[in-house]
Amino acid sequence: MSLWSNVRCPVCGQPGAKQLLWMVKCPRRGCSKYDPDLGLSMGIAGTSGTASPLPQFSGNFNPGANAIAIRYRNWEGVERSFTGDRSTLRLVSRHITVCLSPTGQRCSFSRDRFLNPGEIEPLIKQAEKANTLSAADRHVLSYHRNHGTTSPRYEEVKRKLGEI
Ligand SMILES: [Zn+2]
Repeated sequence: MSLWSNVRCPVCGQPGAKQLLWMVKCPRRGCSKYDPDLGLSMGIAGTSGTASPLPQFSGNFNPGANAIAIRYRNWEGVERSFTGDRSTLRLVSRHITVCLSPTGQRCSFSRDRFLNPGEIEPLIKQAEKANTLSAADRHVLSYHRNHGTTSPRYEEVKRKLGEI
């Protein structure tokens, strides 16, 4: 018996999506909730019959110095590698979300399924600390991180995070 219920994808409206609590897997390629395994099993992923089981990412999103390698085992036990932007990492309950290269699309990962936790856990710890900041402090943090600028307030927030 599967705990996943059949739903219409809340993002793109594709029928045949699966939902478990807040997690959604969508069979439609290109949807932000797209799950290639589900897409293949539904026969939606490709029309040529030569579709790769991996999503065909394209885009110019380049995290540069913020690049972090993510090695992950998904819910079906399939191992994958991604490149994410560490400055976009957020912690939501037992999941993290991070924007991936090259599309810049924000994707969700279960905290327990990383194959390189030594690299990911320190970032999650940082995100946990960031979650304890006030909304104003978080705003200061993300503003200066995104703009590559600084201010006395930003330095103070970084001190709170133990980054200095
Ligand atoms: Zn969808």
